[in-house]
Amino acid sequence: MAVIRGRQFFQNPGPTNIPDRILRAMDRSVLDFNGPEFRAIAERCTDGLKRVFKTEHAVLSYAASGHGAWEAALVNVLSPGDKVLALESGYFSGGWAKLGGVLGLEVEVLSTDWRRGADAGAVEARLAADRARDIKAVLLVHNETSTGVANRVTEVRHALDRADHPALFMVDVISSLASFDFRMDEWRVDVVVGGSQKGLMLPSGMSYTAASAKALKAVEHAAMPRGYWDWRPLLAGTRQARFPGTAPVHFFFGLQEALTMLEEEGLDQVFARHHKLAEATRAAVRAWQQNDGPQLFAADPRVYSDSVTSVLVPEGHDAEAVRRLAYERFNVQLGTGLGPLAGRVFRIGHMGDLNEPMLLGALAAVEMAMELVGVPHGKGGVAAAMASLTAVARQAAA
Ligand SMILES: *Cc1c(COP(=O)(O)O)cnc(C)c1O
Repeated sequence: MAVIRGRQFFQNPGPTNIPDRILRAMDRSVLDFNGPEFRAIAERCTDGLKRVFKTEHAVLSYAASGHGAWEAALVNVLSPGDKVLALESGYFSGGWAKLGGVLGLEVEVLSTDWRRGADAGAVEARLAADRARDIKAVLLVHNETSTGVANRVTEVRHALDRADHPALFMVDVISSLASFDFRMDEWRVDVVVGGSQKGLMLPSGMSYTAASAKALKAVEHAAMPRGYWDWRPLLAGTRQARFPGTAPVHFFFGLQEALTMLEEEGLDQVFARHHKLAEATRAAVRAWQQNDGPQLFAADPRVYSDSVTSVLVPEGHDAEAVRRLAYERFNVQLGTGLGPLAGRVFRIGHMGDLNEPMLLGALAAVEMAMELVGVPHGKGGVAAAMASLTAVARQAAA
């Protein structure tokens, strides 16, 4: 393959770009993970994570991918054979449901249109029909990274409330946390699953679970076998006091820097930046949609994701060819279509450490790749994105 110079543009919807500041923060010698210096860093990080999760409750960290935190969440609050209602509308929500089945839970999958996401009315109807209160937990993925559909957490919360159902409400925020609004306590979420390599701008390999008081009560009678994931030996009250084995010390150096960066910018500004970049991406796709071109996979503006956009290519064309060419020719890394969306969509991640010119460069490469591959599209996607970003910048300057 030809040598390509210049920086890679990394637009995967996870992992995301790791800022140099975070890489530098991790470039230091190790600390005793039982010593006071590391303890202080871990405590500060836990407090910072609580501000990002918007919770006063317990937050636990592990050396694990998001899949590990998925498992930790299930095994700590449930018992073998417990019924859980999994709201499936994509590859990741389907994956969490499948994992529950592997672990011995009785998983009822409530599927909805992948282009529209979870249907709160259907959730309410199903919960209201569960008169015996057999359903112990409802599983929701906040942002379906495979589809670019952001589920409305509050609507699902209201469905539980209207059905007056006591099930635990468990939400995966792996690709929404620190990218757009999530409020664990205000939205009364019982178990939250987060990961390091998306909005938090860290390498992959660390994950987090937060647990409400109700979830911590469930821990006491949960009977799922658990060792590495067991919260009980890790917690002193509602604070994490230990790790299952050696703590991931260098991750905490990075996490501390990531939290500092988020606080310097301000979470609301972080969300506004993600919204602005997402809107520009959507403006580009709308321009490309001319001439029977590709379209946004998300079919309802109320569920547009501010962290990832899935682009559905026209029937008879190969999304993977666009993705491959963008990478091989222009060194722009896009997300692939997952599961049944393989070859049908490519995904443009726009979360984490990203600004306007980085996004515009990536969109330009996508537009060139569609041209070279022969996917029909309208011209001027990049210009439409520039117009969208210019309007925001003008407003900010006024
Ligand atoms: C990335 C992702 C996961 C999986 O995280 P891993 O760290 O790869 O295990 C789960 N859920 C969602 C919504 C994701 O975006």
